[in-house]
Amino acid sequence: MPSARTEFAAVVVAARVPVPARCGETDEIFQAVANVNPLAQVEWVLVFGDEVNGGCCEIEAEINNMLTIKNADYEQLRRHGEETYPFECCGVLLGQFTGHDRVVEEVVRCGNTRADRPQDRYHIDPKELISVQRQATGKGLEIVGFYHSHPDHPARWSQTDLAEAHWLGCSYVITSVDSGVARDTNAFVLLGDTEENKRLENEEIHVASPVEDRTICR
Ligand SMILES: [Zn+2]
Repeated sequence: MPSARTEFAAVVVAARVPVPARCGETDEIFQAVANVNPLAQVEWVLVFGDEVNGGCCEIEAEINNMLTIKNADYEQLRRHGEETYPFECCGVLLGQFTGHDRVVEEVVRCGNTRADRPQDRYHIDPKELISVQRQATGKGLEIVGFYHSHPDHPARWSQTDLAEAHWLGCSYVITSVDSGVARDTNAFVLLGDTEENKRLENEEIHVASPVEDRTICR
């Protein structure tokens, strides 16, 4: 079994955001960043270029994408990948979009319908997805992401993963499962505003610790 919990270092994504003239005003800068990446959490902004003469300038911003998930849910999606090994598992992450982040409230397992090559492809039956979405709405939750596993393959997205990802603004979580044991779990957020310019960017996973307000008996 893998060692307890993986420590996740903050993943910082730098984006260079072109903006029109008059970008010296703070609101415009943040708006320009939001236009490019609505989930952006701007850590710092550096403006350079010839703004004085009305030319274009660029903003360089550090952006932290974040997915928050409870430890039990995190473990559940990893276990799912072990159970379906050597085939890919898949499922849906329900929760809320909070500010710039996605917060997972519930993990829903789905069946992998790619019977032709389940060892390196996954697909969720649209009927099952609609049913999951309906249940979520009933609970006041939204689909904030999807997860799947990579049996004996690194926890990095593939071109197929990108091509088949259509939920802009959602997280795509991938767990590598080596010889039946869950190894790394990484998250990527699907950014862009069309199928043409969509892209997957790294995001930090914040695994929330179990109950913090536990009653302690002395
Ligand atoms: Zn994949």
